[in-house]
Amino acid sequence: MKIEDFDLGTQARWCPGCADFNIWVTVRQALIELNIQPHELLAVYGIGCHGHMANMLKCYGFESLHGRSLPVAFGAKLANRNLNVIAVAGDGDCYGEGMSHFINTARTNADIALIVHNNMVYGLTTGQASPTSAKGYKSKVTPDGVFDVPVNPIALAISAGATFVSRAFAGNIPHLKQMIAEAIKHRGFALVDVLQPCITYNKINTYEFYYKRVYRLQDENFDTGDKMKAMEKAFEWGDRIPIGIFYREERETYEESFPQLKEKSLFEQGISNVNVDRLMEEFV
Ligand code: SF4
Repeated sequence: MKIEDFDLGTQARWCPGCADFNIWVTVRQALIELNIQPHELLAVYGIGCHGHMANMLKCYGFESLHGRSLPVAFGAKLANRNLNVIAVAGDGDCYGEGMSHFINTARTNADIALIVHNNMVYGLTTGQASPTSAKGYKSKVTPDGVFDVPVNPIALAISAGATFVSRAFAGNIPHLKQMIAEAIKHRGFALVDVLQPCITYNKINTYEFYYKRVYRLQDENFDTGDKMKAMEKAFEWGDRIPIGIFYREERETYEESFPQLKEKSLFEQGISNVNVDRLMEEFV
């Protein structure tokens, strides 16, 4: 497998220098490392700059509604659990419009890897504050600064029951690739919250901002099996910002717990002979 095997031959439309390019490169590198072929992967997107990857990544793809990448990915996983399923989302998309899906999919522990391009603004619609924008962040819709505190995706994912919770920085490609590969490999719901500088609209959370602050949890021998310590680390944000795996555990996935899905995916269950006339009469 080569990186080109995942290309659709389309030209990237992100702003030159956008960290979305780095995520696109690392997703393909991770897939090659895991020896996953394009036909073995489904990528589901929401709406936002991240969603442009749908036009460039060769695999089964689905661009859903705003904030809805996770329910579509979940449905697809139930229909065919043999597929590797990733959901790709933005911070506004996933932690705003899609917040309830984020929490509820984490609770299910469905085997889905979620990659969030977290640039702390709504980039596609020209830089409005998002749920992860810092308090005081000024934008067109918040001229006096954001009044409320930002959501904390790491703490939310841990408390909702996600079994793999990580953060990466798009300026550290080898580490980002490692996090994406680990998340896809993980059996269960896995989050990679990617700190992704939007060079056009977010002039605070820049590459320089993160280069000065990020450090790798693995360099401090962090215990990824301790939920309380993970929660404590999730709130570290200032002169030092941790990246890496905060929390990881093994737990039965949704597909494995559901009696009708334990042995076979839905598509393998031969339901084509089922008479749906009564259902059609009642509901259509
Ligand atoms: Fe990237 Fe921001 Fe441009 Fe969107 S608006 S493509 S996130 S730099």
